[in-house]
Amino acid sequence: MPRRKKNLCPNCGTEVKEPYKTWQLIAPFPDKKGRITITSMGMYECPKCGKKFRGVVGKIKLGVEE
Ligand SMILES: [Zn+2]
Repeated sequence: MPRRKKNLCPNCGTEVKEPYKTWQLIAPFPDKKGRITITSMGMYECPKCGKKFRGVVGKIKLGVEE
């Protein structure tokens, strides 16, 4: 499970819990330990004011057994 962080509407500050659309960004280079970071991005829509904004849904690191 990716770790979740709060995504707040930049317009009114309401927390939007679930993105209506997500996609993944894969880092082109591994970090020092050889892990690849995959960032899940999401599009959020504020239920209060209707503002749409992008936010990070979570990050996953691949390549090393923990
Ligand atoms: Zn809002």
